[in-house]
Formats: sequence, C-alpha cells, structure tokens
Amino acid sequence: MTKVYSKSLFFNHSLTGKALLIIILIFSGFPESTFAQKPFKIVIDAGHGGKDPGRPNKSGIKEKDIVLKIALDLGGKLENSGNEVIYTRDKDVFLTLRQRAKIANDVDADLFISIHCNAFHDSSVHGSETFVYGLHVSEANFNIAKKENEINFIDDHYLDDEETYNPTSNESLIGITLMQEEYLDQSILLASFVQNNFTKNLKIRNRGVKQSGFWVLHNTYMPSILIEAGFMTNPKEGSYLNSKRGQVEISNSIYDAIIKYKKAINYSGDFEIKPNIQSSITYKVQIAAGKRRLELKSYNFKGLSNLSRIKQGSIYKYFYSSSKSLTEIKIKKKYARSNGFPNAYIVGFENGKLFEID
Ligand SMILES: [Zn+2]
Repeated sequence: MTKVYSKSLFFNHSLTGKALLIIILIFSGFPESTFAQKPFKIVIDAGHGGKDPGRPNKSGIKEKDIVLKIALDLGGKLENSGNEVIYTRDKDVFLTLRQRAKIANDVDADLFISIHCNAFHDSSVHGSETFVYGLHVSEANFNIAKKENEINFIDDHYLDDEETYNPTSNESLIGITLMQEEYLDQSILLASFVQNNFTKNLKIRNRGVKQSGFWVLHNTYMPSILIEAGFMTNPKEGSYLNSKRGQVEISNSIYDAIIKYKKAINYSGDFEIKPNIQSSITYKVQIAAGKRRLELKSYNFKGLSNLSRIKQGSIYKYFYSSSKSLTEIKIKKKYARSNGFPNAYIVGFENGKLFEID
C-alpha cells in the first residue's frame, strides 16, 4: 500500500516537474494577429514553363500553355470568392521544382495545387488522375476500384529537373512519415473531390486518386495534390484540353472541389481547424525578437510570410506559421531553421498566454 502511494506521488511529482520544465509561462495577453481573419491561402502551380514545354506530344499542343490558362482561370475564381491566391508562375517562365515548393512553404499556404496534362505513346489512353504524395500505391485505402488491364506507366514529372531525393535516407523517411500523418488524409479528400467533379461534370474518364513520389508534393508542407487533367495525346481529349471551353470547365471543377474541401474540413477564417485535432493550444514558430518593430512583410523575414507579432515589455517577438498540431508546427520549425532562422523554436498560445515549448 505504502509502495503504491509513494509511486503515485513520485509520478505526480515528476509530471509537474516536467510540465514546469517544458512549459514556461512568460506572458499574458493576446498576440496581435492570432485571432485576425485569415483568408484561405492557395498556391496554384502551373506545371513546366519557359524552356520546359512539358510532356512531348505530336499534336503541337504545349502542356505549359494549357496548364497556365487553367491555373489563371482557377486563381481568378478563387480570388473573387475571398481566397488568397499565390501563383508559382503567372507567365511563361521556367521554375525549378525547388523554387515551386519554396514559394508554397514561404507563404505557409493552406493548399498546394499543381496542374499538369498527361501524354502517352498510345493515343487511345485518356482520362484524368490526381496524385497525392506517397511511395506506394495503396488503392485499397481510397476505395477506388481498379479496372483490369489498366495501363500503368512511370510518370516522369518528378524527374524533370535537377532535383532528386533519396527515399531511403533517414531524413526523407522522417519527412514522409510526418507528411503522411499530417496531410495525407486531407490531400486525398481534395483529390477525390477533384476526380469526382471531373467524372460527374465533365464526363472525363476517372483514372483515380493515386499516390506517387512527385518531388514537389513531397516537399510542400501542406495538403498538396497534382492534377493530370487529361491526355494531350488522345485526339478528342487533347483538343478539349486545348480549347477555351475545356480549360474553363476544368478550372470550374477544380474550383468547386476546393470549395467542397473547405467545407469538409470546417475551415474558418478565424483560425485553422483540423479534423480529429481538438486542442486549445495554438502553436507558432518564434523566428526573431528585438526592440525594433518590423512590418510583417516577407522581405523583412527572408521570404517567409504568415507572420505574427507580440510585444512583451520593450521587446517585439515575431512568429512564423500557426497550427493546432504540434507535429505540423515541428515541420514548419524545420523549414524556418533551414531558411535563414537557425535558432527558430516552437511556442504555444493557450488562452492568450505564450508558452515556450522547446
Ligand atoms: Zn506535366
């Protein structure tokens, strides 16, 4: 009896000590922008561009031109309905995959949508497919029936510039695990809405939601999808993709899928709500502190945005990103540390109080 009592006493004691060590109460009062209205932020990535025309095909249609038109039309619709849109490119310029991912991570987007068109040597192949990141195809998870004799081929989009990664390295595996835990469900949800809309509204053959090792999906730290809207090499689908009507209809379907997605995850402009995560703590990454009051502009913070600031005494503290998920904010901390803020660390806000987490 005595033993049990002393054990539980020790347990309580060590927990309290741990809590005191980990969570140091510093400040009372609301940070300036924690509860500010935050528009839903979408990065639209038109694939290829400039010296990279996209998938080669005999029809003379250029993937880079089609996807740019779809991207701009989609962005206009999203902006008109109160969303914030950032294009990786809004004209015919070349960008590396690393540059594309950096744009999305720097602005700490809520969604990353990469738009592509497909090509294949057999012109009878047609249909759309939407990819989420993953090294293994697990169709069963998506509950999508796979037709017999479907043609599978190696997609070359993730090999289209100098970027490579080693999927067997520890670094990659940690990243993959975190990404899959945090974003895969949401990415699949959005991808399913896109595919359903294409099939239902446009009668494009549904080739399914698929997982693939696209570099740009692996390296964007938010729900991310890559849409292959259809095959340029199929005569009928190619001319549809290359038509104004086709581009607008495809854009409409993606737009509608994003609106459905926002409803499904209960997105609110006040703060982020993630499904299955109930926490009163909001995490942020502290990147800087000092006596100077800096405008919350990305040029003051090495390209990062989604910034906020509080004042404690005479010191201003600056934060990057905001999340209810500690796992997600750890990814953001890692990103901030490798992008000019090597001493960045995680803080939490609960009931307006700032806590240091690490
Ligand atoms: Zn492409």
